[in-house]
Amino acid sequence: GAEDGESGGDTYTVATDNNFVPFEFLDEDTGEMEGFDMDLIRAIADEAGFEVDIEAMKFDGVVTGMQSAKYDIGIAGMTITEERKENIDFSDPYYDAGLMLAVHSDNTEIESEDDLAGKTVATRSGTTSESYLQENHPDAEVETFPGIVEAYMDLQAGRVDAVMYDVPNVQYYVANDAEGELKTVGDILQGEQYGIAFPKDSELVEDVNEALATLIDNGTYDDIYEEWFGE
Ligand code: GLN
Repeated sequence: GAEDGESGGDTYTVATDNNFVPFEFLDEDTGEMEGFDMDLIRAIADEAGFEVDIEAMKFDGVVTGMQSAKYDIGIAGMTITEERKENIDFSDPYYDAGLMLAVHSDNTEIESEDDLAGKTVATRSGTTSESYLQENHPDAEVETFPGIVEAYMDLQAGRVDAVMYDVPNVQYYVANDAEGELKTVGDILQGEQYGIAFPKDSELVEDVNEALATLIDNGTYDDIYEEWFGE
């Protein structure tokens, strides 16, 4: 449902994940959602001439919110999958990701996904990691949490043996939030691409794709990328 924004442009509701570093997370100081996806969708809105009203929620709420057309746009590090495409429209891909394992720094038993039999692997419900584990590791015990931070905390506390999640999130969490207690192991397990999500047959897809292409051409995308993933 579009309403007139301050600039005269329409205002669209944007559903995002409440915690998926460094794509979207709450900045305690400003009280605003910040991260790569947040900068990107604000830049897209500027370029395309609309306003955004950002609402943060659990990841599976973003997926169902697109299916039921509760929000106009979803941006949440959401992987483009054939299954989701049956009920959701996606923009052109905007980020190359994949899945990876993290274990405790002291762990010498798990060096790759070949060592997961009989181990407890934590991840987040309703995500591509959960599907990947179900399909490829029936002999591992999978524990799912509504938020991925809970999975990492259980790993730090030694309650689970490994966490499987999106490469950029695992790498960022291990480097910035795990205080040296965790490490990544093995290769990228499955290549994935993130897309901006829309309710089926949304008229916004084309405008957003056009704005995204402009931001890639004019260097804005690279500036945002550098800010969150640069050295
Ligand atoms: N990329 C994963 C998925 O789409 C997880 C995204 C997230 O946790 N925000 O399933």
